[in-house]
Amino acid sequence: MAINGGERTVKDSPPKWPFVTDEDIEAVVKALRKSRDDPRYLSAAGGGGPLEELEREFARKMGATYALSTNSGAAALHIALAACEVGPGDEVIVPAYTWGQSAGVILHQNAIPVFADIDPKTYNLDPQSLEERITERTKAVIVVHLYGHPADMDAILDVAEKHGIFVIEDCAQALGAKYKGRYVGTFGHFGCFSVGDGKNIIGGEGGVLLTNDRNLYERALLEGMHPARQNAELTDDSLKPYVDALGHTYRMHPLAAVIARSQLKHLDEWNEMRRRNAEYLSTLLSKIPGVEPPFVAPHCEHVYHQYSPSYFGEQLKGLPRERFIRALQAEGVPIWTYVNVPLHLRRRFQERKFYGKGCPFDCPHAGRRVEYREGDCPVAEERCKKRELNMGSTSWFVDLRPLMEQYAAAFQKVAENVDELL
Ligand SMILES: *Cc1c(COP(=O)(O)O)cnc(C)c1O
Repeated sequence: MAINGGERTVKDSPPKWPFVTDEDIEAVVKALRKSRDDPRYLSAAGGGGPLEELEREFARKMGATYALSTNSGAAALHIALAACEVGPGDEVIVPAYTWGQSAGVILHQNAIPVFADIDPKTYNLDPQSLEERITERTKAVIVVHLYGHPADMDAILDVAEKHGIFVIEDCAQALGAKYKGRYVGTFGHFGCFSVGDGKNIIGGEGGVLLTNDRNLYERALLEGMHPARQNAELTDDSLKPYVDALGHTYRMHPLAAVIARSQLKHLDEWNEMRRRNAEYLSTLLSKIPGVEPPFVAPHCEHVYHQYSPSYFGEQLKGLPRERFIRALQAEGVPIWTYVNVPLHLRRRFQERKFYGKGCPFDCPHAGRRVEYREGDCPVAEERCKKRELNMGSTSWFVDLRPLMEQYAAAFQKVAENVDELL
């Protein structure tokens, strides 16, 4: 094995990601030239220009009525919560197994995150756990389509409707993923996307918010956009008196919108290649002990922002996961762990300390003391502690079958030589 001085199995490497096309570059240059005569082309304050072009195409492609560009995916999530009037003392349910910002935005509204467990196969929000966590204080749920695999939307929407809570989809990793033939981000009250560095298409940085509800769209404008844009677009007379610069500066950089719009043309094609590479690797890995390829639920189209298999050391004489990972890395496989610690067990929640002075956890508006304990989310905890593996896969946007074969050969080699590692 390479870890013991042998030859590396993997000879190739995937292309670099993000990938900027010649068209992206031409589009940016063109926009800059245009800005000499048309200042909207480099100013985002009033909306219009490249922002409007991206928003129109994004909404049309996804099948949503309104799109609002933002300067990050987290900004989109944050103004979605604010538009739903989530505030002090409100509880928002979010899976314990996700990227921190899915929950961080709840704290930024001075509201209280309540963590739900995940489905052991898809690693997404378990609808039953969601229902168990609902109280009269629950205002919303943030559903994450983690790694690019859609969450179980039918069951989640049923629970949310039954209890009258808002549904916000965190689609930062799932741009282009489909559930029952429809793009994710169009099921809930809001869909929030990221085109930040490293996502499935990029603008450098940026995000997009989708909604089909005009009132929610206008409230989001008030929370995150410049008064010039609020004035230009608000139609609701009851909201107009609130036009002000008291919200966040969350508008997207117009050149980021130009790049994201240019990349959007390639979204389906690049995702299709990611899917083909990933499915091919899954076929190969399914025959190798110690590892189980990621699961794809029926009626779901995975877009493989991250290829995340599961580790079964039990099948490799109890080989610790860290040693397995190091042996694969030595063979040339890019592999690591990702979430590592479920959100409810992280320091800020264990110490119930975020803003100081007890907020939001012990805010006078909090209806009860929400606890964050080991054992609250056993599936998420087990996945972090024992099972999760992560190989990225955003860069698998071209045909990489030979590379997938080399990766699988490395898994095979490590499985065959476990004794050398023990
Ligand atoms: C990347 C990411 C975000 C945040 O997006 P930014 O554009 O980086 O702010 C939120 N949630 C998830 C699941 C993410 O992967």
